[in-house]
Amino acid sequence: MAGEPPLQGDLTLSAQILEAIGALVVVLDPQGHVVYFNRACQESTGYSLEELAGRPFWDVLLPPEEAAAMQATFHDPSAVQVPSRFESFWVGKEGRQRLITWSNTPLFDATGRVRYIVGTGLDVTERRQMEEALRRSEQQHADLLHSLNAICWEADPETLAFRFVTQEAERLLGYPLARWIDDPTFWTHHLVHPEDRAWVVPFCMAETRAGRSHDFEYRVLAADGRTLWLRDIVRVEQENGRTVGLKGVMVDITSRKLAELERDQLLQRLQEAILARDEFLSIASHELRSPLTSMQLALQHLLRIARNRPLSEASAQVMQALEVAERQCRQLGKLVNALLDISRIRAGRLHLDLRQTDLVAVVQEAVLQLRGELEASGSSLDIEASGPLWGQWDPGRILQVVTNLLSNAIKYGGGRPISIRILQGDSHARLTVADQGIGIPADRIGTIFDRFTRAVSPRHYGGLGLGLYIVRSLVEAHGGRVTVQSEVGVGSTFGVELPLSAPPSAQTMR
Ligand code: ADP
Repeated sequence: MAGEPPLQGDLTLSAQILEAIGALVVVLDPQGHVVYFNRACQESTGYSLEELAGRPFWDVLLPPEEAAAMQATFHDPSAVQVPSRFESFWVGKEGRQRLITWSNTPLFDATGRVRYIVGTGLDVTERRQMEEALRRSEQQHADLLHSLNAICWEADPETLAFRFVTQEAERLLGYPLARWIDDPTFWTHHLVHPEDRAWVVPFCMAETRAGRSHDFEYRVLAADGRTLWLRDIVRVEQENGRTVGLKGVMVDITSRKLAELERDQLLQRLQEAILARDEFLSIASHELRSPLTSMQLALQHLLRIARNRPLSEASAQVMQALEVAERQCRQLGKLVNALLDISRIRAGRLHLDLRQTDLVAVVQEAVLQLRGELEASGSSLDIEASGPLWGQWDPGRILQVVTNLLSNAIKYGGGRPISIRILQGDSHARLTVADQGIGIPADRIGTIFDRFTRAVSPRHYGGLGLGLYIVRSLVEAHGGRVTVQSEVGVGSTFGVELPLSAPPSAQTMR
């Protein structure tokens, strides 16, 4: 064997192939000396065959920490045993490390002794780097998924059994992940709250069968028996028109649901309270009205008797007291009537008695009724109208509108002049009541037509804050509208626009 040129000299066809292929091929003698080193090896490492021939390959090509172990393998050339497959780093001429997977084959001589070792290697540096990057990115995705405050899941579209769930499933609901995956009936028979199961499971099944992604909210039972609310957003995955899987996200919405529940209960209690108050208002005003009416009648009767008899000094005083009592009784009657109207309006039980009505006559009647207050206030009153103005209205209710506006003008008018104007348009009548009194602050104008709202201090001006609410309700019931213009310290002008014939729906206002 000695003196016989190993794979040198003219290259045979197989040697040409060895030079051409991309795999690394290296041939060693039993001592580990490099005998042959193909072109791919030379390109990968930067060394030429001349530089390496006859040298133990580990001296040049292996990193120091691997070199000693490799040298030991070749310690006894008669018994050299190179592992048939292994991975190792080669250090190139410029110090770059390449990861190579090796497949080794010993070639024996006639006596059965190892003559050469042929190593075939693949440079897997890039592939390994890519695999590592892929693994890292998959890990990042998994970490992200598992760290979410939501349960991400995948399930079988036929059985709805989970195929995958993220760790939040266990954190949130307490069941071990294995339970979710191993028990095919876990969602349908255990997790979904018994009271929701009857609709939740068929709903999800039906949507899945129809290939529709869906998004729904239901209750579930946690491992410790608590009830939680989940929002489940489900995507139905299809391939070639066939449903192949379900993917979804479950989010814990318990606190939102509890807040909603609390709000609904509160709202219901509030509505009940309002209903109770309206009912009380209605009953109380009815109950107050009957004794008040009989008291008023009795007082008026007494006054009539007193007026028709000659007056003694004592009876003069009695009469004065009777007059005061009768006036107060009338005032009380107005308040009770206002309360009764409010409860009727609220209950939609206020009926309009529509008939041909002269607005000018109604205004005159209102002035007559408020004559006493007007005189006491010191305000003068100017009425501007060009003859009667007929319309289809409820005279009693329109009288109420005018007296309310006029008594406000007297009350808040500061004793200065008041004027009422009545104008006829093509289809509407327009009435304005203007005073030069205290006016209304701009930020309160928007609310003075609401129930119980007032823009003045109760210490200075009495009232329930119901008059304008009733005015607006009555005018709107006639199909009309109320407006106001006001400036603090300058005065207020209230306008009422009424269609000459109220719409038929006005018979019963709602
Ligand atoms: P009340 O007069 O009983 O308070 P109203 O509903 O008639 O109730 O009026 C609501 C509020 O609107 C009054 O409290 C007052 O602040 C304001 N207001 C109404 N009319 C006038 C007016 N002519 N001038 C100034 N303020 C007014």
